[in-house]
Amino acid sequence: MSNIQQTLSIIKPDAVERNLQDQIKKDFKNNGFEIIKEKKIHISKEEAERFYKVHETKPFYNDLCAYLSSGPIVVMTLERDNAVMENRKLMGATNPTEAEDGTLRKKYGISIDKNSVHGSDSLENAKIELDFFFNN
Ligand code: GDP
Repeated sequence: MSNIQQTLSIIKPDAVERNLQDQIKKDFKNNGFEIIKEKKIHISKEEAERFYKVHETKPFYNDLCAYLSSGPIVVMTLERDNAVMENRKLMGATNPTEAEDGTLRKKYGISIDKNSVHGSDSLENAKIELDFFFNN
């Protein structure tokens, strides 16, 4: 049975800076994702703080928000069956050094903070995150 979902993907500043967005979008399409919506934006530190609010108690919160707002990003609505989990699989582990071969973070990631892509980690968060970027 098909289980079509939408999830939020972000191509982070390190990847946009290296002009990897077309390559990464090709990776999504080659892995069965349809890019339903897409925009290139540069968010403020305050917007990044709202986006990453779940991490506000973490020691890396300030660096994380400074980083996401440090340059342009590409935000996308991705769709396919089991999109949330399939995108997490395609992205690979948070730390590129631990990510499996063939994953986006292994291919493009530089470090745990400059790990090239973000993807929602649950269907519930996907709805919240898509709303954050596309419905306001
Ligand atoms: P993700 O869902 O795989 O992106 O990982 P998390 O939701 O746990 O963390 C959000 C983002 O915070 C990650 O993508 C990393 O860029 C960053 N991050 C996570 N853990 C660490 C850490 O220990 N140190 C630093 N500097 N950044 C981290």
